[in-house]
Amino acid sequence: MNPKRQTIHFEKKLIDKDALKVLKVLHNAKFEAYLVGGCIRDLLLGQRPKDFDVATNATPEQIHKLFKRSRLIGRRFPLVHIMFSARKYIEVATFRASHSHLNKGGVARDNHYGTLKEDVFRRDFTINALYYDTKNSQVIDFVDGLSAIYEPKICMIGNPIDSFEEDPVRMIRAIRFEAKLDAKLDSIISKTISQKSHLLGSVPPARLYDECVKLFHNEKSYSVFERLLETGLLKHLFQQTSNSKFIKKALNNTSERLKSNKSVTPAFLFSVFLWDSQNKCFDKLKKRNKSNFIAMNEASEEVISRQVKQVLMPKWLSARVKDIWMMQHQLEKCSSKKVNELVANPRFRIAYDFLVLRSQSINPELRHRAEYWTQIQK
Ligand code: ATP
Ligand code: MG
Repeated sequence: MNPKRQTIHFEKKLIDKDALKVLKVLHNAKFEAYLVGGCIRDLLLGQRPKDFDVATNATPEQIHKLFKRSRLIGRRFPLVHIMFSARKYIEVATFRASHSHLNKGGVARDNHYGTLKEDVFRRDFTINALYYDTKNSQVIDFVDGLSAIYEPKICMIGNPIDSFEEDPVRMIRAIRFEAKLDAKLDSIISKTISQKSHLLGSVPPARLYDECVKLFHNEKSYSVFERLLETGLLKHLFQQTSNSKFIKKALNNTSERLKSNKSVTPAFLFSVFLWDSQNKCFDKLKKRNKSNFIAMNEASEEVISRQVKQVLMPKWLSARVKDIWMMQHQLEKCSSKKVNELVANPRFRIAYDFLVLRSQSINPELRHRAEYWTQIQK
């Protein structure tokens, strides 16, 4: 099967300069190398890509030799990160043969490099399987990914049952891209997700953390949430969370902040998602005559420990979530003597934002209190 090739000149300023440098070095050493995946999808959608990935026929060792500031990561299938600063790197992956191909003779070999064409078939959706040849300014399309982007529709590469069984994370990626592109989800994908949502339970919580942040830190955050509820995926990520006015308000607020280039933090997401459960747990503990402080603390610990069985919360994150919750009581009841101390707290701003969103949704009785803190800051 020959791929379609379409000449497209992307705006130069949208393509990462460091990614272009990496391609140049690989090309000069006579390797094949392309930009691939999400960055091409986003460029075709006229959006600025978050990161640029490179796929090549050079092996990780060969890549590593070509770039002084590079490191090999991952054992089962090594990738190379080429460092451009402490935080910025370009990920370069060697063409990989897909699992189903490997399993054909009943022998699963982990370290199996492939060709460009094979690399296409180990990817998740057709919209994510486009390659860009910078030498000819051509998009290389083996799977009708271009038409899927323009339609837009989310189609699986290969059979959804096998693909989701191989990697259940693809189910939540399907929902994310459906919202991002405002696309139609292939009906067979929706059906398979409803049948296979429980497979998410077998994914390590650490891996789900990154994917969850991506699910909600975008401009369609609440639509993603609603779709996760409808498809039954939400309970395998946030079993303690159900829909509420507060969640709607907070997720829409996250999207608005992103649209106006304001910062967002996962601490806010997790504290919103778990707030209702934390409250219920707090009420239960209060009935056992515990002090407010002890009940608050124990309730927070309990709710967080249930959550991390599904999606990991790094230590810094759970600490911050607890701070936001603990500060709600202080913001609601603070005596005028303590006002300055509270405003000077580094967590004040986020706890205040949380209070404001509560007052605008589930706790209208807190409107005056929220207004009070707004005035204090003027
Ligand atoms: P974004 O960066 O906007 O979150 P993305 O599609 O670029 O979206 P990445 O996680 O950066 O997502 O992955 C880069 C590419 O790697 C994808 O476009 C896809 O081709 C492939 N990929 C990522 N995750 C998977 C997966 N779970 N299964 C198969 N292919 C994947
Ligand atoms: Mg990406």
